Amino acid sequence: MNSKPTPQVVIIGSGFGGLNAALKLAHYPVRIVLIDRKNHHTFQPLLYQVATAGLSPGEIAAPIRWIVRGRRNIEVLLGEAQDFDLDRRVVKFPDRELPYDYLIVAAGASHAYFGHDDWEPLAPGLKTIEDALEIRRRILLAFELAERQAASGGPPVQLNFVIVGGGPTGVELAGTLSEIARRALANEFNSIDPKRTRIILLEGGPRILPTYPEDLSRSAEEQLRNLGVEVHTSTMVTGVEPVAVRMGASSLSAVVILWAAGVAASPLAKKLGAPLDRAGRVLVNPDLSIPGHPEIFVVGDLASLKDKNGQLVPGVAPAAIQEGKATARNIARDLQGKPRQNFHYVNKGSLATIGRAAAIAQFGKVHISGFIAWLSWLFVHIFFLIGFRNRIIVLIQWAWSYFTYERGARLITGDQTLPSWQQLTQEENTSAQEKEKRTA
Ligand SMILES: Cc1cc2nc3c(=O)[nH]c(=O)nc-3n(C[C@H](O)[C@H](O)[C@H](O)COP(=O)(O)OP(=O)(O)OC[C@H]3O[C@@H](n4cnc5c(N)ncnc54)[C@H](O)[C@@H]3O)c2cc1C
Repeated sequence: MNSKPTPQVVIIGSGFGGLNAALKLAHYPVRIVLIDRKNHHTFQPLLYQVATAGLSPGEIAAPIRWIVRGRRNIEVLLGEAQDFDLDRRVVKFPDRELPYDYLIVAAGASHAYFGHDDWEPLAPGLKTIEDALEIRRRILLAFELAERQAASGGPPVQLNFVIVGGGPTGVELAGTLSEIARRALANEFNSIDPKRTRIILLEGGPRILPTYPEDLSRSAEEQLRNLGVEVHTSTMVTGVEPVAVRMGASSLSAVVILWAAGVAASPLAKKLGAPLDRAGRVLVNPDLSIPGHPEIFVVGDLASLKDKNGQLVPGVAPAAIQEGKATARNIARDLQGKPRQNFHYVNKGSLATIGRAAAIAQFGKVHISGFIAWLSWLFVHIFFLIGFRNRIIVLIQWAWSYFTYERGARLITGDQTLPSWQQLTQEENTSAQEKEKRTA
């Protein structure tokens, strides 16, 4: 009889990395505790669709408990890990401690405001379902408030939507917002013309989508301009105010400001006592464990590792999935008395969407732009979406909005005020009164 107790693997975070580690480990004789501060796994690549009213939250997120159902050795717990005691091998929660034999930290990253956390309420970023709903609320509310103001004879308000950051999230938000203004909402308002909305994308570097080859960056910029987006590169934002974005001495008025400019690792990284890179990610060993603790692994956006070509493994879903699975395999190899294997990232290609039938794709040396890239993007993302029902629903929604330009989830929920609105309308009123005085 085998008297060895079953090892307990604690996994913090049920994103792409943690979830895939758990699903793979479930095949082995281990007890798995999968902990997340949310009860659902979010398919982050489609968050922008929720933020822009194309999809509803339930179509891109699924309960973790449901995803792992039927795996008797996985226990799912709702909770936020706060700290670790590496000597006693426990994870600390506000109300309890949880022992582990192996620990996988897959807590991901969030947006960074470069030391200006006070900008966050003025310019929300996109990372969670809550963020997406808040962005959707602000966008839709801006059109409603502008219509109300115009209908009551007030001075017109210029609807400027400013997106800070020309990475994949900024680009997809800008492209889709422009389509909403120019197509989906174009004929639904009596007093304002949504087509006059300005969508402005600000990027600090010399080109948008800097991780893509230059020809694809140029193509993306052209596709964005064709959609009516104003793209400003080499434009560093130095301040965010309730109704404006500052760029050095100049400023740009804005009704809605969205933040897509920086990424910061989860604060849990610091608690592991391991060396960190400049973005706060844990510098892991080639097998994804941390120095001095072979029983602790860090995977996904929280891990910093160079691949065999000396390139940093990118913070993308396929990398997190591969790292989660590789870690599960190494734990199994430990249990079988076999040596561990180093992690090698397999890059199957990169895709970024811009809008309807607009995208770029890189598969090795093959660079594609436009409709074919967009179709590839669509099918890859639908394929990886969790749940067959979600895949079918999203495919139908997409086909519908492709042909009709409709956005099916245009609900304004929650607060009916915008942080910028009062100040903006006051400014417009004052300048209208001054104009009147001058003409009198
Ligand atoms: C808007 C957006 C669009 C993107 N688009 C793409 C794309 O098109 N293609 C692509 O490949 N990648 C894309 N990415 C990146 C991709 O989503 C990430 O690389 C991937 O999610 C990383 O997986 P992860 O498991 O490391 O972290 P995550 O998926 O972020 O998961 C981390 C999990 O940990 C939980 N957590 C955090 N802290 C704690 C704690 N203290 N206690 C308990 N739980 C905790 C979180 O709730 C979350 O569920 C996008 C990301 C965003 C934000």
